[in-house]
Amino acid sequence: MDAMIQVRDLRKTYQMGDIEVPALRGVSFSIQRGEFVAIMGPSGSGKSTLMNLLGCLDTPTAGQYILDGLPVDQLERNLLASVRNRKIGFVFQQFNLLPRQTALENVALPLVYLGGVPSEERLGRARDVLKQVGLGERMEHKPKELSGGQQQRVAIARALITRPALLLADEPTGNLDSTSSVEIMALFEELHRRGMTVVVVTHEPDIAAHAQRVISVHDGLLHSDGPPAVAITSSAAPIAHEPARQRLSRTRRPALIPIRRST
Ligand code: ADP
Ligand code: MG
Repeated sequence: MDAMIQVRDLRKTYQMGDIEVPALRGVSFSIQRGEFVAIMGPSGSGKSTLMNLLGCLDTPTAGQYILDGLPVDQLERNLLASVRNRKIGFVFQQFNLLPRQTALENVALPLVYLGGVPSEERLGRARDVLKQVGLGERMEHKPKELSGGQQQRVAIARALITRPALLLADEPTGNLDSTSSVEIMALFEELHRRGMTVVVVTHEPDIAAHAQRVISVHDGLLHSDGPPAVAITSSAAPIAHEPARQRLSRTRRPALIPIRRST
């Protein structure tokens, strides 16, 4: 067993004035190195809260989080930031690119924060990752000169430049048309094939079907954990004239295994 992520009874309660919002109410699971996992669940179920904790962007109210062998749940803010910079690549729904910087400059930026990488090497590595995501011809473009799908590729390149152990993406296709969404998921699949541990939040079953495993969250608790309900296999290749809905149901797998909750 070579766990990248181990969380145990992870909880997060937001304080809004006098009101407590229990966004995560105790979740436990592990993700092994090299796994490709989708996290699903209705809006407001705690997916982003969970991702922000996994991404070391926030600290839990209670519970344990061991990332790549390192207990990170109790780390103070600046140490947490340093773990995040070294270990994690994060991709957001809003691409969060700096509008006045070129694709190349946006991608090189995390190496500035990481420190100790000379400017020539920063740009060289930025060129390499932009080529890897298929944007070798667009390096000097500003974000507004790129399509949504291309901007998300820049954001993925920026997440990869620090050579993270773990790639997290919170609804990365939420702002994309279906063609770009499939391309972005294909890119995650490719990164997974090359050994990256990938965790992607989505609420679209056909997007989740790209993953090996789907963890679903309901109301701040784990609801199910298992293979995707809809498998994309060679036998699921689109057949002309067959409605998409029918194609999907044809490949439906057995129902997800419900989580047994410990009392
Ligand atoms: P999801 O990503 O699944 O839509 P979130 O994790 O964003 O869900 O939110 C889970 C719950 O926590 C929701 O009830 C939401 O309103 C609440 N929440 C999220 N972020 C905050 C915050 N910063 N302050 C207060 N409540 C929050
Ligand atoms: Mg969310």
